[in-house]
Amino acid sequence: MRFPDKLYLAELDPNERIENFAEVTRSVTLSQVQQEAARCLSCKSKPCSTNCPIHTKIPEIIRLIKNNSLKEATLLLLKDNPLPAITGRVCPQERYCEGNCVLAKNSISFGAIERFLGDKLLLESTISPEELKPKELSSKKISVAIIGSGPAGLSSAFFLTLNGAEVAVFEALDKVGGVLRYGIPEFRLPKMILDLQISFLEELGVQFFTSCRIEKEDLEKLVEEFDYIIMATGAGLPRLIDIPGINSPRVITANELLFRVNYMEAYKFPEKLTPVKRPASELRDKVHAVVVGAGNTAMDAARVLRRLGYKVIVAYRRSISESRARYAEITHAMEEGVKFKEYVVPVKVSSTNDPIHPLKITLAKTKVEGKKVITLEKTETLYASLMVLAIGSRRNFIEGTRDWIKDFSTKTTQSRIFAAGDIIRGAATVIEAVADGKRCAEQVLER
Ligand SMILES: Cc1cc2nc3c(=O)[nH]c(=O)nc-3n(C[C@H](O)[C@H](O)[C@H](O)COP(=O)(O)OP(=O)(O)OC[C@H]3O[C@@H](n4cnc5c(N)ncnc54)[C@H](O)[C@@H]3O)c2cc1C
Repeated sequence: MRFPDKLYLAELDPNERIENFAEVTRSVTLSQVQQEAARCLSCKSKPCSTNCPIHTKIPEIIRLIKNNSLKEATLLLLKDNPLPAITGRVCPQERYCEGNCVLAKNSISFGAIERFLGDKLLLESTISPEELKPKELSSKKISVAIIGSGPAGLSSAFFLTLNGAEVAVFEALDKVGGVLRYGIPEFRLPKMILDLQISFLEELGVQFFTSCRIEKEDLEKLVEEFDYIIMATGAGLPRLIDIPGINSPRVITANELLFRVNYMEAYKFPEKLTPVKRPASELRDKVHAVVVGAGNTAMDAARVLRRLGYKVIVAYRRSISESRARYAEITHAMEEGVKFKEYVVPVKVSSTNDPIHPLKITLAKTKVEGKKVITLEKTETLYASLMVLAIGSRRNFIEGTRDWIKDFSTKTTQSRIFAAGDIIRGAATVIEAVADGKRCAEQVLER
């Protein structure tokens, strides 16, 4: 059900969407933002803010917008969140601010407001990095090495630099951004926005060193050279399953697919020649791909496959209502023609002689009992060209550091070493990574 007064982002038509990788949702205008702000009841309890992992001062920001003080609103937003143009696009607001608004389903669309202010900051330079730079530096300039340039690393880098620290970010890949670059597709988060965000941090003074994979020995050197270290290496290792036939070259992980399409820019085909398996144009929408799993990664993989020309089935061992993916992602996937098969799990992969569908995937039925998923004997078969695994991910520990990390704590067992984001949580969310990054920065600055 749609509410007449609520601000909804305009979206590209699903038939148009699956023909390209253009951003699906459109930005809003100032007058739309002002109208939305006017609906806020400025309630005393502020559940939007208390339920936000970074406690964004939503009512106060909205009050400033009502007074036409956009610059002040952006400055207040930046006090807690260095990446508003990104979180405005990808944060699961339905779980945090919007999901807890006193207006219930008619909630204030804060994601759209945040994105508006974030985009203005990056595209129109409403606040220059110069204006944010600390006027007086603390007496001793501390140096901090951050390992990993995903949202956790970027957040720590921002808050530390703002407070006068000398920050160096070391990234294993040759481009900055972590999952924001290699995982989340262009149609949800344009690379142009990410690039502007990174330039903003560079102008603020953050130094990025790419193609620098930090191993155990490098970490020992960093400990000698820097006052503090923050490990923000994420959870980018795909989980796998051990079933007969899984070694078929037609079974790949969602990470591989998304890395090729996003990071290696296969989405720019034919301008970029990164190879990616796609049906011949005459077979568009006739060749099946099966995605196993139903989280954010699975939805992104399914939607990317639709754009590559596949007919897509998502196979999930639970009901789709139990998926951890954003509600908008599931809805968009459905609109784009992705089909869902619930309560099934693959148990065997074999080959066929069919040139179009050379994979035979045997799925067993499942039953959910509490937290457990039980595999039943009854099976069914799907025929496909490609099977993509998106069944979770594991953390990227630097060798020898696993025992230092306390789950969900930004403090490690080592006094000068901190950790943030998916490395302490397992696969989580961008905003939680931002929150951890900020907490690490605060803990470093308190020393
Ligand atoms: C496909 C996909 C879609 C998602 N969609 C959403 C979404 O819509 N909304 C949402 O809130 N969350 C989403 N998430 C989750 C979210 O992206 C992560 O929770 C978040 O990126 C974690 O941030 P991070 O900084 O901890 O790690 P990452 O973003 O994983 O960044 C870690 C970085 O560390 C680097 N690194 C690793 N090891 C080393 C090393 N030894 N030396 C140097 N560098 C190293 C990696 O190359 C990487 O760049 C999604 C995740 C995926 C995979």
